[in-house]
Amino acid sequence: MSTVKTDCRPSAHAGWVTEVQTPSLRFSMAVNEILYQGKSEFQEIIVADTKQFGRVLSLDGVFQTSDAEEWVYHEMIAHVPLYMHPHPERVLIIGGGDGGSAREVLRHPEVRAVDMVEIDAEVIRLAKQYFPQIASALIAEPDRLHVTVGDGLAKVAATENEYDVIIVDCSDPIGPGEGLFQRQFYRDACRALKAGGLLVQQTDSPFLRGALVHDIVRVMSDEFAYARLYLAAIPIYPSGMHSFMLASKGEDPLTALRRPVDIAPLRYYNDAIAKAAFVLPNFVKTLLRERPQE
Ligand code: SAM
Repeated sequence: MSTVKTDCRPSAHAGWVTEVQTPSLRFSMAVNEILYQGKSEFQEIIVADTKQFGRVLSLDGVFQTSDAEEWVYHEMIAHVPLYMHPHPERVLIIGGGDGGSAREVLRHPEVRAVDMVEIDAEVIRLAKQYFPQIASALIAEPDRLHVTVGDGLAKVAATENEYDVIIVDCSDPIGPGEGLFQRQFYRDACRALKAGGLLVQQTDSPFLRGALVHDIVRVMSDEFAYARLYLAAIPIYPSGMHSFMLASKGEDPLTALRRPVDIAPLRYYNDAIAKAAFVLPNFVKTLLRERPQE
């Protein structure tokens, strides 16, 4: 996840796929094979078989997920809000076309229905074909999962008092994902949640994109009762230090009770991590208060 429009040209750099993370920083993976390269209605899509991370999905030159470490992101975006909500029965996923968030949400037996709204049908198709382990829920099509191809902005604008948890598993604030980082979306999403509802969104690297993280916290704090940042170590994202924002209509996520873990195996999330993820380094606390210069 990065906010810089990047080039990712395996053919231009034989044997490598590259994300340009900042104008002076690139992250490259050695490639065994490019499995797919094409352009959908919305974005450039590459699926590469890499030597370090296995299969990797890139959208518009930005690495989204990989076979080797996808579980960090998907466990942390799903289980942090789901174990915090006392009765998470109805869940909305916006984006999430690779299927990893749906897979993790559906592991919670108290979840009765999951609606997933992904704008790009090609991402879903390619995930089923090349990432069957991440997309296992999309392939199995359980009755509890309803997948729609459409714009998440329109979905929340048309919804009121319906969901316990909304997971915004989106790409960057560029292209189709841009509106998902704006005030109107947070206002609509807050209305789409029931009383006590929670919204989580992945929000980039505090290390490299402090101003963006600062701006999102400000706007979310205006629209929700609470907006709290938490962190996870995600190897393929810029700087490896990734943030998520948890916004609440009810209790403060810092003091809310969490239900203990009751599903296994989990490779990253546990009861202690659920708490520790909200403990922030001093430089992150500072950038939440004061917008850094960029
Ligand atoms: N884990 C990833 C990351 O942080 O890089 C996100 C992965 S998931 C593949 C992101 C998905 O959000 C993409 O498939 C993209 O098509 C979808 N998306 C972007 N904007 C959207 C919108 N407005 N409505 C619904 N889905 C959207």
